[in-house]
Order: sequence, then structure tokens, then C-alpha cells
Amino acid sequence: MHEPTLFHKIVAGEIPCTAVFDTEEVLGFRDIHPKAPTHILFVAKKEEHFVSSITELTEETQHVPCMLIRAAQEFAAQQGIEGYKLTFHCGAKGGQEVFYLHLHFLSQQSL
Ligand code: AMP
Repeated sequence: MHEPTLFHKIVAGEIPCTAVFDTEEVLGFRDIHPKAPTHILFVAKKEEHFVSSITELTEETQHVPCMLIRAAQEFAAQQGIEGYKLTFHCGAKGGQEVFYLHLHFLSQQSL
């Protein structure tokens, strides 16, 4: 078992967020300290898809980054955002602070 992280609490609804994308499997919410006019974090919601980081991916969780990328693609299409950057911070030395796999979506277009 692992300690619940900040994003576990956001997914559980225990800590508020501004959700902009919400499906059975993926939640997208605004980053509290945006680094671009649109800065969204995408996370997998189900415990079975939990992985702390790209550095910890296994055969069972290797599809999770693709789920997040597909969610980001769908979100951009829904919002008419034509250009964006997708980033994973991988490990503490890669700038990762929250150890619950998340995809940063950054766009110069405002929502
Ligand atoms: P990382 O450095 O990849 O682990 O990214 C963690 C991100 O979470 C940072 O960009 C933070 O600004 C963001 N963050 C921290 N706390 C919150 C929060 N309560 N709601 C939304 N985003 C948050």
C-alpha cells in the first residue's frame, strides 16, 4: 500500500479542484499555479491504474500514460485548442513534486 497523495485526495473529492474534464477513468483539473494561460493536470481515477511516476511504470500500468494523453487530446478537441505541450515530470530530479502520475497540459490559448 502507499500513502494517499494530494491527487488521491483531489480524485476522492476531499480537496477541491477546478475540474475541466471528467470521465469514468480520467480527471483533468486546473493547476493551482498555472505556468501557461491554460494549465491542466490529467490523472487516472481508478486505484488499479495508480502509479506514482513514469519512473515506476510496470507492465500492468504501461497503458496509463496513453490514457492520459488520449484524455488530453479529447479535451483539446472539445475546447478547440489547436496547440499545446504535454509534459511528465519524472522523478524528484526531473522536477516531480506529487507522486501520483499526472500529465501537464499547457497551452497559450485561454479557456
Ligand atoms: P509536478 O511538479 O509534476 O509533481 O506537478 C505538481 C503540480 O501540482 C504543480 O504544477 C503544482 O502547481 C500543482 N498543484 C499543487 N497543489 C495543487 C492543488 N491543490 N490543485 C491543483 N494543482 C496543484
